Amino acid sequence: MANILAIGEISGGALKKASKEVVSVGKKFGDVSAVLIGENASSLAKELIAFGADTIYTADIKEYAGDVYAKAIAELVKSKSIDIIFIPHSQTGREISARLGAVLNAGVISDAVELKDEGDSIIVKKPVYSGKCFVEMKAKSNPQIITIRPNSQGIVENAGAGNIENISVDMSSAKVKMLSFEAASSERIPLSEADIVISGGRGMKSGENFKLLEEFADQVKAGIGASRAAVDSDWVEHNLQVGQTGQTVSPNVYIAVGISGAIQHLAGMGSSKYIVAINKDPDAPIFKVATYGIVDDLFNVMPAFNEEIKKIRG
Ligand SMILES: Cc1cc2nc3c(=O)[nH]c(=O)nc-3n(C[C@H](O)[C@H](O)[C@H](O)COP(=O)(O)OP(=O)(O)OC[C@H]3O[C@@H](n4cnc5c(N)ncnc54)[C@H](O)[C@@H]3O)c2cc1C
Repeated sequence: MANILAIGEISGGALKKASKEVVSVGKKFGDVSAVLIGENASSLAKELIAFGADTIYTADIKEYAGDVYAKAIAELVKSKSIDIIFIPHSQTGREISARLGAVLNAGVISDAVELKDEGDSIIVKKPVYSGKCFVEMKAKSNPQIITIRPNSQGIVENAGAGNIENISVDMSSAKVKMLSFEAASSERIPLSEADIVISGGRGMKSGENFKLLEEFADQVKAGIGASRAAVDSDWVEHNLQVGQTGQTVSPNVYIAVGISGAIQHLAGMGSSKYIVAINKDPDAPIFKVATYGIVDDLFNVMPAFNEEIKKIRG
C-alpha cells in the first residue's frame, strides 16, 4: 500500500472543496494522511475525516508563506516515508508543488485530469497545448508529486481513522512576508469550486447584460465566468476570466454564452463534464466541444432559460 499525503487548502478561514477531493483521490490509491496549514486548521481538519484521512497534520497559522509551508510539508514527507503527494492544482498548490519538488528533489506532474494505478507509481493523464492533446506521464522519483485539477476527480465519502496531530511551522524563517490580503468582492461561489459555471463572451455586448447570467447563477448557485474578450472590454473583473491566461475550471456543467470557443478559452474549460453552448453562429468552434448546443440569439435564449429555471425551481 502506498503512503499518501494530501495537501489541503484553507481560504478565508474555510476549507476549500479541493482539499476533500485530494483526500478522496488519496484514499483510492493507498493509506492517506493530510496536512492542513492555515487559519483554523485544527478545527477544519475534522472535515477531512469523512473522505479518508487517517491522520491530519495541522498548524494554525494566519499568514501564508509558500517557502515555509513547503519546508514543513517536506519534513513531514521525509519523516513519514510518503510515496505520493496529491495537491490541488490551484494558485497555492502550484507554488507549493514546485517548492516541494525542489526541496525533495522529486518529480512534479501538474494538472492531472485522470489517474491510473501502476503498482509503484501513478500514470497521470494531463492536457497539453491548451487542451488540444493529452499526455500520459509518470514521475520516476520517490516521492511523486501530483497536482489535481479541481473538480476533475470528484469527492467520495469513505471515512479514515481521523487522528489529528499538530506540527510546528516556523514562520520566522519566511523569506517573503504577506502584508495584506484582499478578497475578491464577489460573494459568489469561487469559479474553481462551482459545480455549474455560466460564462459570457463578446456576444453579451455589455457588462450590464451579464445580469442575464447573474439571474441564472443566483437560482442554481452557479459561478460566473467570462472570456478574455469580455474581460478586456471591462465588462467584468479579470478574476472571472476562464482560459489559458485566466482560470482553469472543471465543473459538471459549463454554459458558454456568446463565446466563440477560441483555443485559449477551451484551455480553461475543456475538461468540464457537460458543455452547453449558446451562440447564434452555427459554425462557432464552441459547438465542436459542446455536449448540447443552442443556435440562437442569446438575448432570446437567456430570458426564456431563466424563466424556465424559475418554473422548475418553483
Ligand atoms: C496568448 C493568448 C492568451 C489568451 N488567453 C485567453 C483566455 O485565457 N481566455 C479567453 O477567453 N481568451 C483568451 N485569449 C483570446 C482568445 O483568442 C479569443 O480572442 C477570445 O476567447 C474570444 O472571446 P469571445 O469568444 O468572447 O469573443 P469572439 O471570438 O468575438 O466570439 C463572440 C461570439 O459571440 C457570438 N455572438 C455574438 N452575438 C451573439 C448573440 N446576440 N447571441 C448569441 N451569440 C452571439 C458570436 O457568434 C461569436 O461566436 C487569448 C489569446 C491569446 C493570443
